[in-house]
Amino acid sequence: MMAVGNLRNAQLIINLKAIYSNIKHAKERLDPDTALFQVIKADGYGHGAIAVAKVAERAGASGFCVAILDEALELRQAGITKPILVLGITDPELAQVAANQNISLTVGSSAWLNRAGQLLQNSQLDGKLNVHLALDTGMGRIGFQTADELEEALGVLKQHPSTMNFEGIFTHFATADSPDDSYFKFQYQNFQDFMAVVKNKPKYIHVANSATSLWHKVCGGNMIRLGISAYGLNPSGGEIAKLPYELQPALSFTTEIDFVKYVKKGRSIGYGATYTADSDQWIGTVPVGYADGVPRAMQGFSVLVDGHKCPIVGRVCMDQFMIRLPKNYSYGTKVTIIGKSGDLEITADDVADYLKTISYEVICGFSSRIRRKYL
Ligand SMILES: *Cc1c(COP(=O)(O)O)cnc(C)c1O
Repeated sequence: MMAVGNLRNAQLIINLKAIYSNIKHAKERLDPDTALFQVIKADGYGHGAIAVAKVAERAGASGFCVAILDEALELRQAGITKPILVLGITDPELAQVAANQNISLTVGSSAWLNRAGQLLQNSQLDGKLNVHLALDTGMGRIGFQTADELEEALGVLKQHPSTMNFEGIFTHFATADSPDDSYFKFQYQNFQDFMAVVKNKPKYIHVANSATSLWHKVCGGNMIRLGISAYGLNPSGGEIAKLPYELQPALSFTTEIDFVKYVKKGRSIGYGATYTADSDQWIGTVPVGYADGVPRAMQGFSVLVDGHKCPIVGRVCMDQFMIRLPKNYSYGTKVTIIGKSGDLEITADDVADYLKTISYEVICGFSSRIRRKYL
């Protein structure tokens, strides 16, 4: 793993109180018997999975979702004992590892169940493997595509009562963050058609990500998978502005000016000499770059210094980039890449808009070289 920059003044500042408040608000809108599983894949969307898990537990989360088995094991090693569901497909050869760590796995085919069932039969088990069946109602990613396929899988599960437990069933919406709900309704109808063949309901039925929980009825589910909105970001970017409660962004990114110079008109800045000063001007250098998750495409965007917007000039380098300053600022002056400075604010959505992506990609794109500081 890359060294963590503990001796460099550049940090992601994570406001755990904001995460607490966002989860608390989400939980308060649910029926008392609906569980909230906090999604902490990709190191808690870049915020630190273990720190987020701990605050989420205090805010009322009764379990966690991750993307891959390694992430689940990391949580178990950190002493997290609540249920954990792996949302992606895990190799059936690892079914025993998951069962023995009480980690629930997502399953999308009968072939998987047959293979895992065969392996588990011949294994030393501390407990049954909890499985959640994924229904592909229109996301087109993983899961059973028809009610017939689902029925077959339920049959396979019945053949392995001592090694596998049907713990959950779920689907994932592709357009829950869109103002147009026609495709959402189509998926929901498909979900109901699937559920008609499920005679014995599992403990958890879940369909809601953040967007579904904010803007749609939870469709008869009794668990939600809350992701981005716990981190204080709007799943739709700005597309649906109306929110049932205020989301508090938890992450800010600050660093400093670590070199300042006055350059004469005509001097160029950075690789490729893509920027040439059109007047005498102050240029500052900032000690983060694309290896930290500040992409080269950020050239031309701005950061905040002392309440001023300062453009990123020249190409972003691997470990540094340059900004144009309105005046001479001393070594160590704070630079805000995401967050507030004076009356101005740059949000993860502002960065995402500039990069033509979504806030999700921005926040989980910061590398392990940037230290995380918790408030
Ligand atoms: C990532 C993910 C979520 C969380 O989505 P958000 O939009 O961040 O709330 C929920 N369910 C599944 C299956 C996911 O992959």
